[in-house]
Amino acid sequence: MNDGAPAFLAAVRQVLGEQAVDSSEEGIVRYGRNLLPGGDRRTAGIVFPSSTGEVQTVVQLANAHRFPLYSISTGENRGLGLKSPIRPGSVIVDVGARMNRILAIDETLCFAEIEPGVTYQQMYDELGRRGHTLMMDTASGPPNGGIVGNTLDKGAGYTPYFDHFGMSCGLEVVLGDGRVLRTADGALAGSQTWHLSKYGYGPFLDGLFLQSNFGIVTRMGVWLMPRPPAIRSFFFIFPDDEDFGEIIDLVRPLKLNNVVPSLLKVTNDLYALGTETTYPFERTGGRTPLPDGVRRELQREHGLGAWLVSGAFYGASDEVLLPLVERVKAHFGRSGKARYVSHEEALVQPIFDIHVATFSGRPTASELSLLNWRPGGGNCWFLPGLPMKGEVANQQQALSRRILREHKLEFIAEYVCGPRLARALHVIVFNRQDPEECQRVMRCYRALLHAYAEAGYPVSRAPLDFQEEAMARLETFPGVCADIKHALDPNAILAPGRYGIETRK
Ligand SMILES: Cc1cc2nc3c(=O)[nH]c(=O)nc-3n(C[C@H](O)[C@H](O)[C@H](O)COP(=O)(O)OP(=O)(O)OC[C@H]3O[C@@H](n4cnc5c(N)ncnc54)[C@H](O)[C@@H]3O)c2cc1C
Repeated sequence: MNDGAPAFLAAVRQVLGEQAVDSSEEGIVRYGRNLLPGGDRRTAGIVFPSSTGEVQTVVQLANAHRFPLYSISTGENRGLGLKSPIRPGSVIVDVGARMNRILAIDETLCFAEIEPGVTYQQMYDELGRRGHTLMMDTASGPPNGGIVGNTLDKGAGYTPYFDHFGMSCGLEVVLGDGRVLRTADGALAGSQTWHLSKYGYGPFLDGLFLQSNFGIVTRMGVWLMPRPPAIRSFFFIFPDDEDFGEIIDLVRPLKLNNVVPSLLKVTNDLYALGTETTYPFERTGGRTPLPDGVRRELQREHGLGAWLVSGAFYGASDEVLLPLVERVKAHFGRSGKARYVSHEEALVQPIFDIHVATFSGRPTASELSLLNWRPGGGNCWFLPGLPMKGEVANQQQALSRRILREHKLEFIAEYVCGPRLARALHVIVFNRQDPEECQRVMRCYRALLHAYAEAGYPVSRAPLDFQEEAMARLETFPGVCADIKHALDPNAILAPGRYGIETRK
């Protein structure tokens, strides 16, 4: 039975009250909006549960009415979907709107228990109120984005606690069939170790709820880092595009040997300067993409080169950290091309301060300015992995530059480097008001997806418009996901099609 949104929403209203439902045109339009080239996705309405029990009620009613739901926590997934559902016509469950409490912070064992609506800014402010003895890792995206939603989408940050799922511990989930599951040690009633023991007893299930549609997460444990007395960032500027390969070869040993505890960012010119300027149409006679000559001019004007390398040290005092900075200076100095920029210089330059903030667990909205690089508000992320080898790095760079140029778009990229793999954050910024440009971005994204997959590089996360295509490239995996979907959500109520996961045929 699918008797339509009005009947389902009326049933929710009757049980949870008028304040738990929004079926206004304004709400439907707002929640359907995104920044992607494929267009907005209209919802059928929004529901706002205030407890795990209410989420359970919503899921039970959706099963009874056979009505599809799509859950968000803070709905700030910019360039990937924002609040809008994978399938138009679903009802959005805005889990975080009323479930937004920090339920506990244990300052001795350094963890928090949170509801889905807790934002990075909210956690930062609360830790500040407690004297900043603890530090969280933050994404460099919107400060009003949330810790739970970001973790469930396999988001990451930059400090030693960068791996958001790795630093989560214990989930509470309402499954598609309406059961409530507490994962790992939380499965024992009255457990005192739910947010301490990550893997629990028996199979480890937490990963099932990332980038999937098997459950709605209503609570999560998150580990916090004791805030060190001193944090010192360091920066190196490299002049040429081709230096990228050498940079990757220089960064790799610093991570493999754990010399630098933060991730290292290798940021290209436009990703860095795009946070403080916009596409210079006046210098190109209105043409796109940006000619290399004009790109060079912009590099000079903003005191940058082709690449900006950054990282950070953490410790008891600046005196302890300065020799470590000297060590990386000598290391990058071997290239003969690196220009060093100090922590103090970085603090007073907005482009660099974004890095200082994210290495320090301080939310910042500054990087969002990058989305104004071109007018029209379009934004879409392409996120393949780069093996940490210089030769491969320059091959991938050439591939991305060629495909983007062919589609009259710029190569705007930041590589977030671990020991073996860098996540290659490609930001496609485009005019969403121009239908021709949207079509071109669709073609470009597909060309990137195809070329990288053919070369053996899958993506780690995909915008709504491309989730099904990215899944369709994988072997055996979609069928196994469909079997799990069938077991946990037999009526396919939760976000059918999300990340390309359908139920078993
Ligand atoms: C300039 C810029 C910089 C960025 N930097 C980063 C970065 O450094 N790191 C990074 O990871 N991302 C980054 N992003 C991407 C994105 O904006 C952030 O990841 C943001 O935190 C995600 O939005 P959110 O926290 O509001 O999650 P939500 O939008 O609430 O959730 C994300 C998705 O997870 C699913 N989900 C959410 N809640 C639940 C739930 N309770 N149960 C089941 N499923 C759920 C939903 O399908 C949802 O679409 C950046 C974006 C921009 C524009």
